[in-house]
Amino acid sequence: MNAMTTTGFAARFEQNPAARPDAERDEILADPGFGTYFTDHMFVADWTPADGWHDARVVPYGPITLDPSAAVLHYAQEIFEGLKAYRHDDGAVYLFRPDQNAARLQRSARRLALPELPTEWFTGAIKALLQADGGWVPSGGEKSLYLRPFMYASESFLGVRPAQRVTFSVIASPAGAYFKGGVKPVSIWLSTQYSRAGAGGTGAAKCGGNYAASLLPQQEGIAQGCDQVVFLDSTEQTYIEELGGMNLFFVRADGSIVTPELSGSILEGITRDSILTIARDLGHDVVERRVSIDEWRDGVADGSITEVFACGTAAVVTPVGTLKWDGGELTWGDGDAGKVTSDLRAALIDVQHGRADDRHGWMTAVN
Ligand SMILES: *Cc1c(COP(=O)(O)O)cnc(C)c1O
Repeated sequence: MNAMTTTGFAARFEQNPAARPDAERDEILADPGFGTYFTDHMFVADWTPADGWHDARVVPYGPITLDPSAAVLHYAQEIFEGLKAYRHDDGAVYLFRPDQNAARLQRSARRLALPELPTEWFTGAIKALLQADGGWVPSGGEKSLYLRPFMYASESFLGVRPAQRVTFSVIASPAGAYFKGGVKPVSIWLSTQYSRAGAGGTGAAKCGGNYAASLLPQQEGIAQGCDQVVFLDSTEQTYIEELGGMNLFFVRADGSIVTPELSGSILEGITRDSILTIARDLGHDVVERRVSIDEWRDGVADGSITEVFACGTAAVVTPVGTLKWDGGELTWGDGDAGKVTSDLRAALIDVQHGRADDRHGWMTAVN
């Protein structure tokens, strides 16, 4: 990588002549849903071995032109991130732990043989996009602007080797409250026929390929009447890994909180890490260790596990109320989120939205 071109970050700006009028934008922000609407601009930069990261630019949001032989379309050399921008009551815009997303993108890049993006480029790209599209950060309730950084092999070449031309981009999409009619527990299908990731594979990298592998089991789970799928370790088919895009937690009757330890094929969620910290702050014993599927089933049945929840940036914390598998089903709780789940969820959301003390220095002001 050429250090000369990759230090010092500055992006050129090209105004979108067809940017949405404020009134139209505000109408979208009143009820944005998730992942449907996109802001007026996008960030783009390119990498080559000779020039390193270069040509940082904020340009009108729109289709990208790729040669049909672009490596990403054939060999899926692609990684991504997900984080949110929040407007606090004072009007200022904040990011939640963006340095962690930058570091994870670097780890994912190493695993997918992509060039690492320096942290100042990662945060610089987001800030440059927000400078253009800051008006798209909604205020109030649980609303936010979801940011989707992604990197892909844009080189035109069908040979199998790491691409010599790579593109990094950031797009942004306003997001409403994930749960509209209150936070309701979801049901989970236990996938035993398929794995999300295997030992030595790409499970710990945030790459599109992992999601592609999870779609068929997800479809199977939906056909079984469930909302999400849980995957077990691929070697022993015994230990709980995670959902297709969320990490799992178990609340025990003694107040302790357990989450599967990072196995090498579990994605290291930033929400997961933050929940571990907040749970300790709230006085819970917090344990990262292997959790078998039998421990989940037996624990719910005998009452030693009282609550289960999933977590990730998009939905923050999602209570789980049902586990279904080939041959059985268990439901627990009273149909609402449990107390510990609700308290952890509220504590995290309050920090993110500036309604609670940011005691761990997680929030980064954008302007
Ligand atoms: C992104 C992701 C998560 C959650 O990570 P956060 O940083 O909390 O958003 C969990 N599992 C998988 C597979 C993911 O891709």
